[in-house]
Amino acid sequence: MMSADREIPPLPPASLRLKVDTAALVANWCMLDAMSGSASAGAAVKADAYGLGVEQVAPALRAAGARQFFVAHWSEVPSLLACVPAEEIAVLHGPVTAAEAAFGKDTGVRPVINSLHQAALWLDAGGGPCDLMVDTGMSRLGIALEEMGNEAIGRLAIHTLHSHLASADEDVPQNAIQLARFAQAAKAIPAQYRSLANSAGIALGADYAFDRTRPGIALYGGVPRREFTEKVKQIAFPQTSVIQIRTVAAGERIGYNGIDIAQHDMRCATVAIGYADGYLRCWTGHGQLRFAEVILPVVGRISMDLAIINCAAAPDLREGDFLDVCYDIPAASAATGLSQYELLTGLGSRFGRSG
Ligand SMILES: *Cc1c(COP(=O)(O)O)cnc(C)c1O
Repeated sequence: MMSADREIPPLPPASLRLKVDTAALVANWCMLDAMSGSASAGAAVKADAYGLGVEQVAPALRAAGARQFFVAHWSEVPSLLACVPAEEIAVLHGPVTAAEAAFGKDTGVRPVINSLHQAALWLDAGGGPCDLMVDTGMSRLGIALEEMGNEAIGRLAIHTLHSHLASADEDVPQNAIQLARFAQAAKAIPAQYRSLANSAGIALGADYAFDRTRPGIALYGGVPRREFTEKVKQIAFPQTSVIQIRTVAAGERIGYNGIDIAQHDMRCATVAIGYADGYLRCWTGHGQLRFAEVILPVVGRISMDLAIINCAAAPDLREGDFLDVCYDIPAASAATGLSQYELLTGLGSRFGRSG
């Protein structure tokens, strides 16, 4: 039996890797900051920087010049505080309990106040600098425009006044309606800074930029609007390794439920990535891996921890070799039907993440 005090030896290198190209990340941020015009770009780093690893992403963005970082949950604050000063962090969900308000006070991280209830909790905790979200037509988070005159709102020390665009990735009248409502809120509510645009909103033009922008997806290789085509660089590069190579005899079935049948003797490799890693079953029939510039297609159904590829075109491929998983975000979205956001945030905890 293993005794409790027995030391676990160092882990061998991960057989599933996620390389984050921090130089490309910085280039994406600089592009978005420049497109923000007179406004400065912050960065949405919620959900572990969209699945890519906040401990690599946030320091790179900060070194590039980003000074406003957004997470959703209070639980995301400690890992971000390890690399970003508290006054540059805001928590989008705001304080829902007194304990969360106290945590905000104690850490010096700003809550984004979303409701009169949250305003009261924050003031009860002693108040201090906070952000305020107004709802301008998304009906998700934020105070209503009719609540702007509430006395609790009047007592807040507002650093940044926010609203969020519901359809910035489309050319629809809703954008201009939200812009007009936000301009009205910006007149009525005193705040140091104003912020409306997410990634897609940045492409809507100077009117939408205000003082601060909050890009997320386009930092990480997503293309939410055509204006970003050719401008956004891929930054997430998953790699997996071969666990086993076999020749599947003609007529044999491949993978769960035998949905594919070898038409002739077929050299196949089983690789260490599956739906538990975010490589979902919708990649079945669409996935591609690359070894030394040769594209190798997924065959059979994606399973939890494994996928099978036809590696006939790569006779040099050996067990233990690493392959690139083709993961250009817009192309992957087109291939699978998953949103660009889901493709990034779904990348699981078994990836060894590195810069
Ligand atoms: C997630 C989020 C963003 C970033 O949006 P992208 O579409 O990823 O650029 C900006 N603002 C708020 C309030 C968000 O929740």
